[in-house]
Amino acid sequence: MGERTDFRTKRLYVEDALLAGQAIEADRAKANYLLNVLRLKADDSVLLFNGSDGEWLADIVPGGRKACSLVPQKQLRPQPEPYDLQLYFAPLKQARLDYMVQKAVEMGAGYLQPVITRYTQVQKLNSERMQANMLEAAEQCGILTVPELGAPITLERMLETWLTDQGNRVLIFCDELAEAAAGAQGLTAIDGRPLAVLIGPEGGFSEDERHLLHSKSFVHALSLGPRILRADTAAVAALAIIQAIIGDYR
Ligand code: SAH
Repeated sequence: MGERTDFRTKRLYVEDALLAGQAIEADRAKANYLLNVLRLKADDSVLLFNGSDGEWLADIVPGGRKACSLVPQKQLRPQPEPYDLQLYFAPLKQARLDYMVQKAVEMGAGYLQPVITRYTQVQKLNSERMQANMLEAAEQCGILTVPELGAPITLERMLETWLTDQGNRVLIFCDELAEAAAGAQGLTAIDGRPLAVLIGPEGGFSEDERHLLHSKSFVHALSLGPRILRADTAAVAALAIIQAIIGDYR
C-alpha cells in the first residue's frame, strides 16, 4: 500500500496551482462550506488537490464569516498517474446516473464516456452535473487525479473507431444474456491488457447490438450472474469483479 490516505481531514479540489505558502482565495461556496457547514477554524487544516500537484496540507485563514483563504504548507502525496480503467455507459435517468458516475470514480475508473445505444432513453445529457459528481467522488475517496468525461458517442461509432483509438484495449461487454457471456474467472485471459467496461441502458442491448459486440475481436463478454441487475448496480458489480480479479484490488 502507498502512503496512507488521511480520511479524517476534509479534501477539496481546487483549480489553482499548489505551491508552499501561496495563498488560494476560496470561492464563496467553498468558504461557506468550510466555515459555516464544517465550522472549521483558523487552526484547522484541509487537504487540497488539483489533479497535477499531488495532495497538499493547507491552513485555513478565515477572513470573516463568508471568506477564507487556503495556504498550502506541505505536499503529503505526490501526483499519481491517472487510472487507466475506462467505463463506457448508456446514460440513465438522473438519480441513477448521478449514482453510477460517482460509484465508477470510487471504483477506480479514470475515464467515463456516455454511449448512445438503441434503447437509451435519456436525451439531454448534463456533462457539468456528471463532472461535478465525478469531482465530489474523487474528493471523498482520496483520488488525486481528476477522472475525465468523454463526449457522448453512438455504440456503432465507438466500435468502428475502437482499434484505431484504443489499440490493444479490451472492451469488457457486460452482457445480460448470461449464457452468451463468460463468468468472472474468464477475465484472467485478458490480464495485463488496458481495460474498458461497457454497461447498457435500462432497456438492455438490442439483438443487433449484442451480435455486433460479439463479432469484435477486442470484445470480452462478461456475465454478472443469473439475475438481471439494474444498470447502476451492474456498473458497480462489474468494476468490483474486474478490480478484484485483474485490477488494483490485488
Ligand atoms: N433488458 C434488461 C437488462 C437491462 S440491465 C432489462 O430491461 O432490465 C442494464 C445493463 O446492465 C445491461 O445492458 C448489462 O450491461 C448490465 N447487466 C445487468 N445484468 C447483467 C448480468 N446478469 N450480466 C451481465 N450484465 C448485466
